[in-house]
Amino acid sequence: MTNADLQAVSDLTAEQLHLNLNPKVEVHEVQKGRVRPKTGKVTIPNWALSRGEPYVIAYVIHEVCHYKFMGHGQNFRTCEMSALKPWGLFPIYSRAYIKELRQGSVNGPTLYKRPKRA
Ligand SMILES: [Zn+2]
Repeated sequence: MTNADLQAVSDLTAEQLHLNLNPKVEVHEVQKGRVRPKTGKVTIPNWALSRGEPYVIAYVIHEVCHYKFMGHGQNFRTCEMSALKPWGLFPIYSRAYIKELRQGSVNGPTLYKRPKRA
């Protein structure tokens, strides 16, 4: 995915969530993604790009949802799930994070599965 693709995911999510800003997506060589509400920037780690399109889309959506809810509580999760829906992505969680993405619903085929640690 190109930077423009990632920006498009962010823009559409910001619109869906009725945010009053359009976060700017940047890809950097960092370990973890983050949001900087003051500057309106979202950082995506470049390693995420190698995990395929569904994962990258979900990663951007995760960060953009943090403009609405900090932390990973129930409000955040509801927001994340609803923002993934238009992309046909259904998340399976392990603690705060998505470990698997399925197509359309819990019964859909697996599009992404978190790699096991070596
Ligand atoms: Zn988070």
